[in-house]
Amino acid sequence: MRVYTFPDPVLHEICEPVEVGDKAMARHAKSMLKQMYKSDGVGLAGPQVGLLKRIVVIDTDYVTEDEDGNLLPSRSLVLINPEIVDHSEEQIPSKEGCISLPGLSVDVKRWEWVKVKCLDADYNEVEHVGDGLFGVCMQHEIDHLDGMTLIERADPIARLKALREYQSANGQ
Ligand SMILES: [Zn+2]
Repeated sequence: MRVYTFPDPVLHEICEPVEVGDKAMARHAKSMLKQMYKSDGVGLAGPQVGLLKRIVVIDTDYVTEDEDGNLLPSRSLVLINPEIVDHSEEQIPSKEGCISLPGLSVDVKRWEWVKVKCLDADYNEVEHVGDGLFGVCMQHEIDHLDGMTLIERADPIARLKALREYQSANGQ
């Protein structure tokens, strides 16, 4: 499994819904979580590993390492076909990084809280209500499923700034 970075076109595709009961997804979710912890991220979406399906993994709670250097996942979540069904009235500023945009942090705006409907790894219907890092992370990962990175999410001025920074950080 490799992580695709901006401006790879795979990051700008709209992902297909996962077919309910698709057995391959449990395996994908496992590898995605592994990759997410390895990349020291709190979330990862299908397209970032070249999988154009509506699947996201998130763990905004993990404490990095135990004394043997093992990563300690505390609440790893798999979100299949996630959808924002409700959100706050207000948006708040958010400074975010992304495994697919190494070395960059971008100013964007997010709903203060969101309610997300999805399926878990066993295809049970679940709902997650989240604010803070968890809420932001769900919004960030769902953007990826619609082909949108932080660069496209940012307003025009922040986008130009981010593009310049990214290009100089990545020698383009
Ligand atoms: Zn991202």
